[in-house]
Amino acid sequence: MHTSRSENDPRVTAAQLIPTCQLCDAAFVPQRIRLLGESGHAQLLHAQCPHCHTGMVLLVLIHELGMGSVGLVTDLSEGDVVRLFRESSISTDDVLAISSHLHTGELLDSI
Ligand SMILES: [Zn+2]
Repeated sequence: MHTSRSENDPRVTAAQLIPTCQLCDAAFVPQRIRLLGESGHAQLLHAQCPHCHTGMVLLVLIHELGMGSVGLVTDLSEGDVVRLFRESSISTDDVLAISSHLHTGELLDSI
């Protein structure tokens, strides 16, 4: 079966799922959408409004029953999104250590 290039382009799919900016209603264009990662049937994309430059992080899920998406308006750049996904999260131990240092007044000594 032959498929055109645009049918397989996740940027085109994202622009179809979220056609306009949530803030200014300008149309998203595939040229301003970047695929940041994919795993199985899930794709993570970042779109930037060509008019107001607002960012949107978009999670697209594609499966045999169809496709769905969740979008989040953000001020994060695509580089910020990639960096935050790669960094480890704050653990419970980290929070307890800071709390302990706050109670003993040793916070500045531990930095
Ligand atoms: Zn906009």
